[in-house]
Amino acid sequence: MFADLHLHTHFSDGTWTPEALAAEARRLGLGALALTDHDTVEGCARAAAACAQHGLEFVPGTELTAEHEGHEVHILGYFLETTHPDLLRELTRFQQARQERIREMVARLNRQGVGLRPEAVFALANCRSPGRPHVARALVQHGYCGSSDEAFERFLKKHRPAWVPKCKISARRAIELIHAAGGLAVMAHPGLNHHDALIPILVEGGLDGIECWHTKHTPAQTARYLELARHHRLLVTGGSDCHGTSKGQPVLGQVRLAWEHYLRLKQAPRPAATPT
Ligand code: AMP
Ligand code: FE
Ligand code: FE
Ligand code: ZN
Repeated sequence: MFADLHLHTHFSDGTWTPEALAAEARRLGLGALALTDHDTVEGCARAAAACAQHGLEFVPGTELTAEHEGHEVHILGYFLETTHPDLLRELTRFQQARQERIREMVARLNRQGVGLRPEAVFALANCRSPGRPHVARALVQHGYCGSSDEAFERFLKKHRPAWVPKCKISARRAIELIHAAGGLAVMAHPGLNHHDALIPILVEGGLDGIECWHTKHTPAQTARYLELARHHRLLVTGGSDCHGTSKGQPVLGQVRLAWEHYLRLKQAPRPAATPT
């Protein structure tokens, strides 16, 4: 039995519904999955119900956009109380900032002579946590670009004309918030961050685990992060980071976390959620 603990749906920048995700996971023979949409837990209730129907174990989660001294880092939260008011308040703030960012990106596109309207992006995104992939898809849908890749290359990549920095909370605050909601905090895909010096700082801040297996990690990176996790006595996790079809072929099933690691995460002592 295997688990996939890093997955997105249309509640952030994925394309699948929670139901489609659960059905695909079942078809591929997975035994457990975690939903980790960017800066939201909205899809978790539906994903839990769909997983129960398919006999899959489900972990409610999120992927928080954080930073430490200018370095972006994504923090995964697992086994969250998805109705915890502190968590929901912070996520709402995040989602408002993401929506503001879309408006700002569209304003910049307008200054470039691209007549897109923010409502077109919001309609296409149809979620509270929209991001650049939605702007890219809107540019394609309205005929301004031939592909999402072209949209990123021409407009949306860092330092291109429509790029706007994203709202991020401090990495320590992200860990605190996950703990306040009774969850475990795991550093996402460290191999993509190119800044391993963050790990001891996050450990100091209460980090519980490292995502060692990820679609974009090389075997050498996985080995390195397993060793770092052992050194810091952290849990180890893994996931495909599947976004449905938003980045080409779905990668669900390409990372299969061994059941023993899933069980260790599941059975690890969790912080008590702060009283509400
Ligand atoms: P955002 O959170 O709004 O900054 O958007 C990040 C998302 O955009 C991630 O899911 C990335 O995979 C995707 N992305 C970032 N850069 C590119 C790129 N150059 N081409 C295609 N997708 C990208
Ligand atoms: Fe994403
Ligand atoms: Fe990420
Ligand atoms: Zn992700």
